[in-house]
Amino acid sequence: ETASTKPKSLPPRLRFDFRQPDSKSLKLFIYTTYLTLTTENIFVHIENSKKISILVFIDGFVHTIAIELFELVTNDITVHISTNSRGQIEIDLKKQNDQIWKTIGKFASNHLSVCPVQDFEPIYFMATLIKRSPVTHDSDWYTFSLPSNIFMLPPIGYHIRLRQSKDGILIVKPYTVVNKLNNEQNLSSDQTIELLIKHYTDRTMTPMLQKLNIGDTIEMSSFEGTFDYTKINTCKTLILVAAGTGLTPMIRIINYVIKQTENQVDMNVILLFFNKTQDDILCGEELQTISKQNKIIVHDILSRPGPEWTGETGYIRGELLHRLLPSISSTTNVTETLVCVCGPTPFSKLAIDLLKEHGYNDNCLHLFLA
Ligand code: NAD
Repeated sequence: ETASTKPKSLPPRLRFDFRQPDSKSLKLFIYTTYLTLTTENIFVHIENSKKISILVFIDGFVHTIAIELFELVTNDITVHISTNSRGQIEIDLKKQNDQIWKTIGKFASNHLSVCPVQDFEPIYFMATLIKRSPVTHDSDWYTFSLPSNIFMLPPIGYHIRLRQSKDGILIVKPYTVVNKLNNEQNLSSDQTIELLIKHYTDRTMTPMLQKLNIGDTIEMSSFEGTFDYTKINTCKTLILVAAGTGLTPMIRIINYVIKQTENQVDMNVILLFFNKTQDDILCGEELQTISKQNKIIVHDILSRPGPEWTGETGYIRGELLHRLLPSISSTTNVTETLVCVCGPTPFSKLAIDLLKEHGYNDNCLHLFLA
C-alpha cells in the first residue's frame, strides 16, 4: 500500500470474448487498456476441468473472469499477452473431447466483476512442499510446487496466504513470495513458489509448517499486493527500510535492481536492515557479498547487539536516518527516490513518520502491508 490510501473509483469492466480455432481448442480473449500488462498480472485456476477463474491484477484492482465451461478441458493453460495489440490477454485451453461447443458455458455471478485488491477474497488451492532448507537459527526457505490446474507468477513484492485448519479453526498467514538473493530466476520456467519463513514457537501457523513433510500439501492462495515494481525503473535512489522478515519483499527488489544495474542503469541503493541480534540477520552473507561488489549499500542495525558488535545499534530513529540516508536538498531528489518499508507494524509506523520528517512524502513511500 502507499502510505496514504486514497479511495479510488472503480475502473471500467474488462471485455471478454472467445474463439474455437478448431474442435480441440478454446481461446479466451480479455481486453484491457493496460499497456504494461505482463503474464505476472494474471492468475488462472481450472476447477474440476470444468470451471475457469481468471484474475487480472491491474493498478490496485482485481478483475474476475469466471465461467462454468460447456464441457471439460485439460489443465493445460497457456497465457500470453498479444504482441500486436497491447493489453490484450490470450489464454489457450485444450478440450478433453474433440468437438465444437454450442456455447462457452455459463458465466458465473462474479464474471467480469472488479474490486480493490484489499477487499478481494483470494482463491485457494493445494500446493506441495518439495524442499525446505535452513537460513538462520529460526528461519527456513520453503519451496512449494503448484498443481497443474493453476497458473501464477506473483509479481515482485506480492504475497500469497497459507491456510490450515487446527482444531476446527482456520489459521491463515500471508507470506511474501521470494527467491534466493542474486538469483532472479525466471519464475515461469517452473511452477514453484519460494517463501522465507521465520518460525515462532508461540504462534500457530509456523509450528504446523515445521511439521509438514516433503510431499505434504497445504492450502495456498492466489497472490495479493499493490507494489508497482515499474517505479524502480524511474528512480535514481532506492531506499529499502526493513526489519526482521520485512526483508522478504526487498529480496526480489534487490535482485531486480542488480539485473537493472548490470544493464548499466545508474542507481543508488541503500538497505537499512534492522534486526535483534547478528544471528537473526536473514541472508547476511549474500547481502555482504552484494554490498562488497558495490551493488548496494547495506547498513545493519541491531537492537540487541552482542558485546562483539561494533556496528549501528538501537531502533529506527531520526538521528540514524539523518546519518545514513542522503540529505534531501531539492524536490528533484524526492521525485527520483523510492523508499520501501517493511517490518513489524510498530516499526513500520514509526519508520513512515520518521521518513516523512526526513522529507520524503507519500508519493515516494511504499509500505508493504499484508
Ligand atoms: P523482530 O521481532 O525480529 O524485529 C526486528 C526489528 O524490528 C527489531 O530489531 C527492531 O529494530 C524493530 N522493531 C521491532 N519492534 C519495534 C518497535 N516496537 N518499535 C521500533 N522498532 C521495532 O521482527 P520479526 O519477528 O522478523 O517480524 C517481522 C514482521 O514483518 C512481522 O510482523 C511480519 O508480519 C512483517 N512482515 C510483513 C510483510 C508484508 O506486509 N508484506 C512481509 C514480511 C514481513
